[in-house]
Amino acid sequence: MIYDAHAHLHEFLDSRIKEFIKEIIIVGVSDDYPSSRRTLELSNEYGNIVPCVGIHPWNVDKVGLDELRQIERVVSEAGCIGEVGLDRRFVPQTFNRQLEFFRVFVSLAKDYDLPLNIHAPDAWRDTLDFVRREDVNKVLFHWYTGPLNLIQEIKDYGYYISINAAIRIQEKSRVVAREAPLDMILLESDGPYEYRGITLEPPMVREAASIVAEIKGISVEDLWDKVAYNFSKLFRIKV
Ligand SMILES: [Zn+2]
Repeated sequence: MIYDAHAHLHEFLDSRIKEFIKEIIIVGVSDDYPSSRRTLELSNEYGNIVPCVGIHPWNVDKVGLDELRQIERVVSEAGCIGEVGLDRRFVPQTFNRQLEFFRVFVSLAKDYDLPLNIHAPDAWRDTLDFVRREDVNKVLFHWYTGPLNLIQEIKDYGYYISINAAIRIQEKSRVVAREAPLDMILLESDGPYEYRGITLEPPMVREAASIVAEIKGISVEDLWDKVAYNFSKLFRIKV
């Protein structure tokens, strides 16, 4: 099996999901309450899915606080909380409301001892400080393209980053892959997000693995062994 640490499975057709999970164990993140419900249903219906519930920082101005309460009611069924976080790059105008939502998700992560699947463009430092201050145990910084000098700090706290399949065209992801130690690296697609004309999909983690293995100077098999181990520690599954 191979591993995708961050995909929006709720946006794919069932027929595609069935294909994916034959060879990929996928962390399915959610964007709001309806997609959280859908992700939980998918994980009950199909194997090989780690369901995350949450409200994406891009949605905090589109939903009411009651939606947070709805998520709280289903969080015990989840294996992870996400996609949640802070974003100063794409939606800086809602930053204060993002903080309000993120605070709730961080406390749920602690109460239920669940990993956080975090989105933090241009808010990497804010987010890291936040989870540290709150003493959160398990954190993934998804599609990490933040400052290189934060990587070691993230690792020292025992947190992880995921490198996106966009590494085939995104130079910053290559730089991050070079810099980050293997024992903090996961891979992800963020499918079906569209990045510079490419629709990302879970099977693309395979190519990402070859690129990262080449950068690291190890075999693809060894790379997957490392990633599988990191995945199992973060999401508490047997590999
Ligand atoms: Zn995402």
